[in-house]
Amino acid sequence: MKKFSLLLLAALLAVSLIGCAPDAPQQYRTEFLGTFDTVVSVIGYADTEEEFSQAAGIVHETFAGLHQLFDIYHGYSGVNNIKTINDNAGLMPVKVDARIIELLQTAKEWHSKTDGAVNVAMGPVLAVWHEYRGTGIASPEDAAVPGAQELAEAAKLTNIGKIAIDEAASTVYIEAGMRIDVGAIAKGYATQAAADALIAAGYDSVLISAGGNVAAVGAPKDGRDKWGVGVKDPQSDLAYSTDDENLLDVAYVSGVSVVSSGSYERYYEVDGVRYHHLIDPQTLFPAAHCIGVTVIAQDSTAADVLSTAAFVLPPEEAMLLIENTEGTEALWVHENGDVTLSSGMAAYLKHIGGATNGA
Ligand code: AMP
Ligand code: MG
Repeated sequence: MKKFSLLLLAALLAVSLIGCAPDAPQQYRTEFLGTFDTVVSVIGYADTEEEFSQAAGIVHETFAGLHQLFDIYHGYSGVNNIKTINDNAGLMPVKVDARIIELLQTAKEWHSKTDGAVNVAMGPVLAVWHEYRGTGIASPEDAAVPGAQELAEAAKLTNIGKIAIDEAASTVYIEAGMRIDVGAIAKGYATQAAADALIAAGYDSVLISAGGNVAAVGAPKDGRDKWGVGVKDPQSDLAYSTDDENLLDVAYVSGVSVVSSGSYERYYEVDGVRYHHLIDPQTLFPAAHCIGVTVIAQDSTAADVLSTAAFVLPPEEAMLLIENTEGTEALWVHENGDVTLSSGMAAYLKHIGGATNGA
C-alpha cells in the first residue's frame, strides 16, 4: 500500500562516486526516502563531492518541506497543510503557506485546460477508492468494488469551483464534505521546485528522479549532451529498471521533465480484475483507455498533471490536449502493447525514433 509515510525518516544515503577521469567533473549519485511515498534519486556532475552533497541537500530540503505541506493523511505540529484544510471543511478558512495557494491555483487552471480530467477536488471519490483498495490489499478475500451509488454520492462534493482561495489573506476554505487530493500534481510541483532551487543556486547538471517524475537540470558533463531517462514498459513487472532490455524505450532529454502515470502504480484486484488509482471523473471508475502514459514538458508540474490527464481522457481528446499544449509530447501504451506517439515524441526516443545523446 502506498501512502505518505508517517515519519519524515528521510535519510540521505551515502553519496557514491561513479566513474573517474582526473580534472573532469565527476558523476555522483544519492537517494533518499521519506517524502511523497517514493525514493528520490539525485544524480549529478560536480567538481567535488561536497558540491554535489550541497545540491542533494537542496533537493532533499525542498521535498521534505513540500511533503509536509501537501500531505493529506498526516498533520505536523506548527504546519497548516492540505489535511488541515480538509479537516476544516465547512468550519473555517485555513491560513496556509503561499506554496499551497500556488499549487491549488495551478490545479484550478489545469482543471479547465484538461476539460475536468484532473480535478484535485475529487478527494471524496478518491477516498472511497483508497479505502476499498486498502481493504483489498490487506485482505484479498474481502476485496470488493465500490457501488455506483456510493461513488455518485461522493461525486456530489467534487466541485473544484468551491475551493475558495483568498490570495490576499492566504487562506483556503472548502465546504463541508469536500476533500482535496493533490496526488496528481504534488510530486511534479515538488520536482519542479527542487529543479528551480538548484538552478537558482547555480547548478547546471543534475537529474532528479522521484518515482515516475524526472526533471533534468542541464545536461551531463561527460561528453553526452542529453540524459537518458528510461520509459517504463507498463507490462513489465520490473519497476523503474535501468536495464535497457526491460524498458519500453529511453528518452534523451536536457532541461525538461519526463513524467509517467500508469495502471501499474497502485491497484488491487477483485475476481481477477485490476482496479487502479487513476479515476475517470466521468465514470468514477479507473480509466481504461490505456495502461501507461509518459509526458515530456518543460515544467514538471505541467508534465505531472498532463500525464494523469492523458491517461484519464479518451484517446482523441488526450492527443488533442497534448498537441495543443505547447512544448509537450506524450507516449501512450495500450493494453495490447500498441504504442501511440504525439507528433514530436519520436525525436526524443532512442529505439522508436533513433534519437542520440551526443556521445
Ligand atoms: P499520478 O500518479 O500523477 O497520475 O497521480 C495519481 C494520483 O492522483 C492518485 O493516486 C490520486 O490520488 C489522484 N487522482 C487519480 N485520479 C485523479 C483525477 N482524475 N483527478 C485528480 N486526481 C486524481
Ligand atoms: Mg500526475
